Amino acid sequence: MYERILIPTDGSDTAAQAVGEALEIAEKFDAEVHTLYVVDTDAAELSLGTEQVERIRQGRFGEMDELEARARDATGDVAERGRERGLEVEEHFRGGRPHKVIADFAEDRDMDLVVMGSHGRSGVSRILLGSVTERVLRSTHRSVLVVDEREAES
Ligand code: ATP
Ligand code: MN
Repeated sequence: MYERILIPTDGSDTAAQAVGEALEIAEKFDAEVHTLYVVDTDAAELSLGTEQVERIRQGRFGEMDELEARARDATGDVAERGRERGLEVEEHFRGGRPHKVIADFAEDRDMDLVVMGSHGRSGVSRILLGSVTERVLRSTHRSVLVVDEREAES
């Protein structure tokens, strides 16, 4: 039923909670697991020059230590937790508008299920859904499992 699962992560605690559920599903269905970190170029534009933002768009943010470290931390955690369960996790990095990149990735790589947190790094938990998750739900026909931060544990 689920052959390919996508776990978008921003490195937040809620995203990490979603990882546990995603991996359990992946184990049950023997699914391929992909994790994706998106550097938000709109946010980056505020603090970085246009030349750097262009580099991010081209996926060359590996040259920028801090961005790379944050991205690798986030996806590396998913990969590590996958390994502990004997699952191989493919790590992906992209630059752009997070919801758009996530929805396009799910489409282009034919993901059967996207598992993400209800909230992320920047949100207010009083609001039911973070804007990235809300926009992903509005931009894809793929199945999306939203793990609520209040329900999740571990
Ligand atoms: P907001 O961003 O609207 O202030 P928030 O940070 O609480 O609120 P979202 O950004 O929507 O909420 O995060 C919800 C989920 O979306 C995260 O748990 C994660 O799964 C995913 N996500 C958010 N940002 C990214 C990103 N840059 N790259 C990959 N996944 C992301
Ligand atoms: Mn966010």
